[in-house]
Amino acid sequence: MLVQAEYVEGNGFIAEVIRTNRIKTADVRVEEGVVSIVVPNGLPDARISQILKKKNEWIKNKIFLHREHNPVNAKDYVSGESFAYLGRNYRLKVVKGTFTPVKLVQGRLVVTVPQGSEYVHMIHNALVRWYKHHAELKLQEKVKRYAAVVGVDPSGVGIKTFKSRWGSCSTHGHIDFNWKIIMSPNHIVDYVVVHELCHLKHHDHSPKFWKEVERVMPGYLDCKEWLKKFGGGLWV
Ligand SMILES: [Zn+2]
Repeated sequence: MLVQAEYVEGNGFIAEVIRTNRIKTADVRVEEGVVSIVVPNGLPDARISQILKKKNEWIKNKIFLHREHNPVNAKDYVSGESFAYLGRNYRLKVVKGTFTPVKLVQGRLVVTVPQGSEYVHMIHNALVRWYKHHAELKLQEKVKRYAAVVGVDPSGVGIKTFKSRWGSCSTHGHIDFNWKIIMSPNHIVDYVVVHELCHLKHHDHSPKFWKEVERVMPGYLDCKEWLKKFGGGLWV
């Protein structure tokens, strides 16, 4: 189900509001420096702002720690910088104004944030959200296509942030993908999808497993190599 994204501005950050009827109390999360708040359906906006205000110190600290621990991330998040999506580079365009999530407009990733350097990480947050959203759509589509070819029926597909892997599959047939894979070229994403789907047949990296991968994707070794060489450079 696709729900309209809802955002609320905190003190120097933007939080995504996720409404659900599965929880009774609000839950604030900061993952990879990205803030979200999961709340029960119908919780008034004023109450959400209140909760974020109360947790402001904690949120700011989490964002700070994320930046401290990711010095490799040398992006400036300014107009003109390029970001990869399915192997193609798209230029970022930063517009000043009321926060608006990233949109792909005429080949540019356009994001609107308020004026001021303290809002730079908002651009990062917005990009991560954009990537996650598109990763989910693309990967679900690819899983559907390749599941038929591999001859398996996964029980579910999700998106996760993994530190050092591209996907994982449970014994119950649920597959999770690292959303960052969506930055790599199309055939590399295909390989990761095929790889995980083949794990539904063989839960290991045995010769039988690799034979199955090869059957579906004869050129898979090049993809494996590509990931080894360039996979580390896939970040936003
Ligand atoms: Zn594997």
